[in-house]
Amino acid sequence: MCHPELQQRAEKLVSTCRSKGLLIGIGECFRTVEEQEKLYSKGRTTPGKIVTNARGNSFGSHHQWGTAFDIYRNDGKGAYNDSDGFFKKVGQIGVQLGLEWGGNWTSPVDKPHFQLPYWGSDTKKLKNTYITPDKFKQSWNDKDDKEKKMEKIYNSVSEVPQWGKDTIEKLLKKGYLKGEGANLALSETAIKILVINDRAGLYDKIN
Ligand SMILES: [Zn+2]
Repeated sequence: MCHPELQQRAEKLVSTCRSKGLLIGIGECFRTVEEQEKLYSKGRTTPGKIVTNARGNSFGSHHQWGTAFDIYRNDGKGAYNDSDGFFKKVGQIGVQLGLEWGGNWTSPVDKPHFQLPYWGSDTKKLKNTYITPDKFKQSWNDKDDKEKKMEKIYNSVSEVPQWGKDTIEKLLKKGYLKGEGANLALSETAIKILVINDRAGLYDKIN
């Protein structure tokens, strides 16, 4: 339910913290409209302290966009025990890993909270750009599709598939192709066409 980049950084945060003796767990991640609304009512129409300024139906929380997660302390000393500055230490590591940390906010200060830093602390920019979390989520898939469709580029003969090696070597030798080593910049489609031309004897006839 969360942005792929957020998932990566969450894993990285857990492992980096562990290597420094700070044991954390990942708590709340994605929140539905109903879940956010229930949280908003806390401290307002239901008991407890106010914990969020974001209404559910306004998509005002990064948790509703899959761009935020909360952590808890996982070393048996109490999930939110901060008497030894535990959360600030984790917060600083999170910032180093490219996350925005809620402990740096003023209203409310939200020490267990981390989010992706690209759209600002609030969700206005996300709302203006994508309207709803569902549409935002589609944009992640589009990007994945594009990456999958993107062709591999070969920059040296050693990388070229076996079926294309002879042709590419020949073209380099004759000087028709340049950039061996770093700038060959051949897609698989390009190599296929060159091989077909080579089989047709095109490069032999010229010389
Ligand atoms: Zn949060």
